[in-house]
Amino acid sequence: MDSIRVRYAPSPTGQPHLGNVRTALFNWLFARRYGGKFVVRIEDTDQERAVDGVVDAILESLRWLELDWDEGPDADGPYGPYVQSQRLGIYHEATDRLISAGNAYRCYCTRERLDELRKANRANNAPNPGYDGHCRNLTQADLRDQEGNHTPHTVRFVMPDQGETELVDLIRGDVSWDNALLDDFVILKSDGFPTYHLANVLDDHLMEISHVLRAEEWLSSTPRHLQLYGALGYEPPLFGHLPMILGPDRSKLSKRHGATALLEYRDAGYLSEAMVNFMALLGWSLDDKTDVISREELAQVFSLDQVGKSGAIFDTERLLWMNGVYIRGLEPDELARRAYPFVREELPSLSRAPGPEELARVMPLLQERLKTLRDAPDMASYFFRDDLEYDASLLVPKGMERDAAASALHGAHRTLVNLHDFSAAALEESLRTLTGELEVSGRQLFGALRVATTGRTAAPPLFETMEALGRERCLKRIHRACEMLEAG
Ligand code: GLU
Repeated sequence: MDSIRVRYAPSPTGQPHLGNVRTALFNWLFARRYGGKFVVRIEDTDQERAVDGVVDAILESLRWLELDWDEGPDADGPYGPYVQSQRLGIYHEATDRLISAGNAYRCYCTRERLDELRKANRANNAPNPGYDGHCRNLTQADLRDQEGNHTPHTVRFVMPDQGETELVDLIRGDVSWDNALLDDFVILKSDGFPTYHLANVLDDHLMEISHVLRAEEWLSSTPRHLQLYGALGYEPPLFGHLPMILGPDRSKLSKRHGATALLEYRDAGYLSEAMVNFMALLGWSLDDKTDVISREELAQVFSLDQVGKSGAIFDTERLLWMNGVYIRGLEPDELARRAYPFVREELPSLSRAPGPEELARVMPLLQERLKTLRDAPDMASYFFRDDLEYDASLLVPKGMERDAAASALHGAHRTLVNLHDFSAAALEESLRTLTGELEVSGRQLFGALRVATTGRTAAPPLFETMEALGRERCLKRIHRACEMLEAG
């Protein structure tokens, strides 16, 4: 394919959520797959709905997922995005051109009139429930009057009254619309800002966008866009409308299904690799069995042929599972580096602050069980906390008296004081020997030791954990456990 240019064109009207960013991902993958360019454009022409801080969150989301963009309004990188509110002159010039050519007209209808019209249309079940074209036919004298009075106005596009607007959608195939059902929509608002339709079409043309890949909810805007392209004398790009994302109950995805702002996933301890993999499968698939596929592989195999038409189901369980897969795939050092900010957040409650290297030493023990990075502080805490809190009764294994448990732990303490080599293998060997001497089962002795050294009944493999804790801490903790038992 020649000269692929795609864009991600979010409106900063709310925190970017997974559905929005999936559009960015598909565009980025498409550009990377075919050696094209990926452009980011902030569509902020609806000033009333713009929310502060959202542009930063959009860019932060893209950076987190490493969806880098290739150009911007400045000549050199690192590029900012294109921002529509900084391009108003372009939209005004095109509006004037459309008015002069008879493809657009000034509309002086008041808000009250438009409200009345909407009500009446609704009451009559009008087939075309939009604007009635009232200002299409104002006389030159009317227009002069209104202009002289500086009456606020919008500019509307003249939609054809007949015929059909047709699209061959790259994903949905043939789609057509009856023009008679589409009204003369606003292209320039009374505040001087263009509407989404006008700015979007002009910018896609000026930025030489070859493929518009966007969510299905925009499909109904496409006939308007195609008509605008025609009136402006521009060749339209190709369009592909991506399938909706649905909750497990097949209704439109919402917060109720656990779909929150994308950056909340980062803060909840999800890896960006897992997020990319998960989102890529929301509407696209390589085949019917591949679940785990890296960003690099995706960028080599992604294509629109495997984008489905029907809604993609969002499943948080699958995401959690996938996150675990990516966590297990990281080198312990790297995992420690990523988990460190989460552990650090909890440092005030730990008696000893671990450094990243120390965290890296214990990571291999936790890696199997971590589902998110957020689990790390709790799972790792007993390595760094000396004041373990647990109930002394947990130290007494089933089928054993309290005294017997205390003397088994004393025995373990003695053994460990004299143990030369504090490796997991040596620990296991000597403690197994001890079970024979004490005539207790491995399950009993190791269970008591697990609680004494970690404060928990379930923890990563005991001997490796003890090795990582080191002799001194193990001895201290076992000693304390004996005291707890003896105290009553
Ligand atoms: N500004 C629109 C949005 O917020 C862009 C739609 C499109 O890609 O054309 O999603």
